[in-house]
Amino acid sequence: MSSKLRILVPIKRVIDFAIKPRINKAGTGVETKGVKFSMNPFCDIALEESLRLRENNKDLVDHIHAVSIGPTKAQDVLRTALAKGADSTTLVDVGDDEVEPLAVAKILKKMVEKQNSNLVILGKQAIDDDANQTGQILSGLLDWPQATNASKVQVEGDSVTVTREIDGGSGTLRAKLPMVITTDLRLNEPRYASLPNIMKAKKKPLEKLKASDFDVDLTKRVETLKVEEPPARQAGVRVESVDELISKLKEIKAL
Ligand code: AMP
Repeated sequence: MSSKLRILVPIKRVIDFAIKPRINKAGTGVETKGVKFSMNPFCDIALEESLRLRENNKDLVDHIHAVSIGPTKAQDVLRTALAKGADSTTLVDVGDDEVEPLAVAKILKKMVEKQNSNLVILGKQAIDDDANQTGQILSGLLDWPQATNASKVQVEGDSVTVTREIDGGSGTLRAKLPMVITTDLRLNEPRYASLPNIMKAKKKPLEKLKASDFDVDLTKRVETLKVEEPPARQAGVRVESVDELISKLKEIKAL
């Protein structure tokens, strides 16, 4: 396989990170009606890293393709990806149903084959389901090496060095292309799309496919029984001195 990068960036449309999610009436998930949606922040970081790999070495990257599996409206996040610099995109329209990570990974595997990708950069997790599974499952399905939670990525020829955020420090891995990387928060700070680029993105390629084009079973394997808000925090108490603090803690038997 050529070592020029053909990068696939899977992008999920999720409730905007700045919005406080509310539980729906049925208590089975988050209320999605009338709520702002955006690109999942970790996917934005994955796209940014792909763009920087190209900007830092023009000969390194052949193509950047973004793909989203979601409702028709997921086109919006793909248009944003095109405005930021992706070369082409695919929407896999699955309607409003949530697709589990296993089925997403199966579709992504087919996209990898279709696009002849040799590097997939995903977010480490989608901020709606917090599954943190798709990259790992995809690497298993493809039988490719994976480096998750990346905070630094360096590519030299077909050798990729990734620094990973781990508890209390960092770890550095090296693997050969083709491979799967998932991004952590500190990898980079994504750019904003400029207005002229948003206009130009309207003419860039956005392929529209359906779930039925992929022959993948989307049946859910996991049932959400209940989603609950965390208990409301009680108001705090101000104390005047350390002695008072200690006696209050003794009162509530915390000491
Ligand atoms: P998750 O495993 O659901 O936490 O998601 C991890 C990453 O997988 C996301 O940041 C995306 O890069 C990718 N991903 C998950 N679901 C989708 C989807 N429906 N469409 C495109 N990419 C997805």
